[in-house]
Amino acid sequence: MGSSIVGRLDMIAEVEGPAKGIYHVQFKTLYGTASIPGYMKEVAVSMHERGYSWLGRAQKKPIPIKGTILVVFQKTVTGPVNRKTGVRSVKEDWAPFTVERLSITPRAREQFVDDASAILDWIENCRENGFPRFTKNCVQYGRACIAYDWCRMGAFFKDEWETRAPDYADKVNGVNVSRLLTFQVCPKLYEVLYELNLSKKSDKKLSADFGTAVHNGVEAWYGPKGGKKFKDGGWKPGFDDRLALETFERSIPEGHDEECKETETTGYGKLLLQRYFDRYRIPHKKMFSKILGTEVTLVANLNEE
Ligand code: SF4
Repeated sequence: MGSSIVGRLDMIAEVEGPAKGIYHVQFKTLYGTASIPGYMKEVAVSMHERGYSWLGRAQKKPIPIKGTILVVFQKTVTGPVNRKTGVRSVKEDWAPFTVERLSITPRAREQFVDDASAILDWIENCRENGFPRFTKNCVQYGRACIAYDWCRMGAFFKDEWETRAPDYADKVNGVNVSRLLTFQVCPKLYEVLYELNLSKKSDKKLSADFGTAVHNGVEAWYGPKGGKKFKDGGWKPGFDDRLALETFERSIPEGHDEECKETETTGYGKLLLQRYFDRYRIPHKKMFSKILGTEVTLVANLNEE
């Protein structure tokens, strides 16, 4: 592994208005009970967002990403169940979205380079001397890692793992921010996931499948109408509801609805998306003058900047 940093950005768009500029647009599905202000606070200082802003500028043809527009889809059902029909109603004031803009300062980008370089050095060091277990990070702020007891018994790294499918970071032999953060929390887990390339066997993928399907639907909604693009490859968003809902439905794996939670069914997802489209069609028509790309993978070397 070199010191390549890789990031996959949900969408890069040109924004009009007072905050004019180029932004990373990130879509996120969260549980209804998740604290949005807490999540926002976490993201405001997140290494991910600093990293994406740095990655954009580190390209051969720099993309001056000013910050992130964070779009949260909150999976929540607020209405009571109708006793006769058994169907849960949705309150009219249901507003399960949050759209926030975060700016990244030059200092925050520099900080990203310092932090990422230091973590990559530690990883290199662990390759030579071993990846430690039970470091001081196992108990942070008085709270033990959720796998602490299991891990102490020695069960955590035995039997329960299978070979992990390569992801976009493996394809370019780089390290993404999630991996750097995993290493910071648990070097041993990093070794298991990204050096031995294993993943947990028992992991349920239902929530991830739902999130991916919502993501695909939203991506189709911001896609170009009739595939029409500008010379530079950018496009005006098409806002095609039907295409987006069909894309979402196609992305839900067979049998998913029988096993998933109420807030992760195909019907719920379509309702959530339709509400999002109705809410943001007009503001986003004004806001996004051009989409520069969706699912954009950016790679850059820390030493070359
Ligand atoms: S899984 Fe990692 S963080 Fe958790 S107790 Fe074990 S070594 Fe520590």
